[in-house]
Amino acid sequence: MGHEQVLFCSDPATGLKAIIGIHNTVLGPALGGTRMWSYASEADALTDVLRLSRGMTYKAAISGLNLGGGKAVIIGDSRKIKDEALMRRFGLFVESLGGKYITAEDVGMTTKDMEYIHMETDHVVGIPETLGGGGDPSPVTAYGVYMGMKAAAKKAYGNESLGGKQILVQGAGNVGCYLVDHLVNEGANVMIADIYNDNIKKVVDRNQSVSVIDAGDVFTQEIDIYAPCALGATINDDSIARMTCRIIAGAANNQLANEAQHGQMLLEKGIIYAPDFLINAGGLINCYSELEGYNRDRAMDQAEQIFDTTMTVLDKSEKDGKPTYQIANQMAEDRINKIAQIHRSL
Ligand code: NAD
Repeated sequence: MGHEQVLFCSDPATGLKAIIGIHNTVLGPALGGTRMWSYASEADALTDVLRLSRGMTYKAAISGLNLGGGKAVIIGDSRKIKDEALMRRFGLFVESLGGKYITAEDVGMTTKDMEYIHMETDHVVGIPETLGGGGDPSPVTAYGVYMGMKAAAKKAYGNESLGGKQILVQGAGNVGCYLVDHLVNEGANVMIADIYNDNIKKVVDRNQSVSVIDAGDVFTQEIDIYAPCALGATINDDSIARMTCRIIAGAANNQLANEAQHGQMLLEKGIIYAPDFLINAGGLINCYSELEGYNRDRAMDQAEQIFDTTMTVLDKSEKDGKPTYQIANQMAEDRINKIAQIHRSL
């Protein structure tokens, strides 16, 4: 996949086994979260870190950020083997890269873990607001998704308003909850689905107009917009065959089960797909802002620009007759190649 550097970290004393993947640093230091997971094998962990770090390169590039793509995985059960020493040892490995890789929170990690890592290295973001960090990135992510959805509405209906639209938000978690706030404020008819009742309750308590549907009924509803905000790979052969929506715009990573195949199927079915890695970049934008001295307003302004970038992708997709994800990938690669060229000419 063209990675610049892959670092295998091992420390028997603390039980740490980790892999740091640095995919590309042409635009800047490689930034991406650390995921802690009980991988079935080291090969699985390696595949995950290679795939995830490459994805970060594209997300940063299309978002206009001066960041490269990186990611780390720690192998093991976060509920069983994680402690202060293991986290700080990992922090020392991050420090050994001298700032080429900057870490953040991902699955299996907490803000407390970020504090431990921060004791050994400054190359970490996503630390609490009380320590000068950006805190929870979800509101910024939700705002960016909302902007991407409005751009898709403009393309589909000639007008960016979401008022009166039937919108289904799958996943009433951190991002889903804030996204629903924006949609309800704009007068959309919002439905939510989740597998946990307490998460649903949190959303309905904030916005009583929201209707709740069973998690298994997501693709049986007549809707205008589908917002996947739970897990990846929900866009597949089976779901596309049942979809009635005109637009897909949500926060989940890797929504297309198979990029090439399902991106093309959506194009042929006339469903406008706002690429996930473009419209969910608010979290990364929030992290980037931390590097410059955190400013939430600045992060929100940058997330707002997702509207224009999404519009550019959708216009080009229509003009060239190509799937939106393909256009977005191309735009990211073009930016990296052009910036590499100006650096070479120095
Ligand atoms: P979260 O864990 O807070 O929320 C996910 C929600 O989805 C949970 O309420 C969970 O119960 C629900 N869910 C799980 N399986 C489901 C199913 N089959 N049907 C319906 N609901 C289901 O996570 P989050 O932080 O809100 O992130 C949501 C998605 O967006 C994730 O895929 C995440 O990787 C992605 N994302 C998040 C951010 C961020 O800033 N938090 C940034 C970029 C991307």
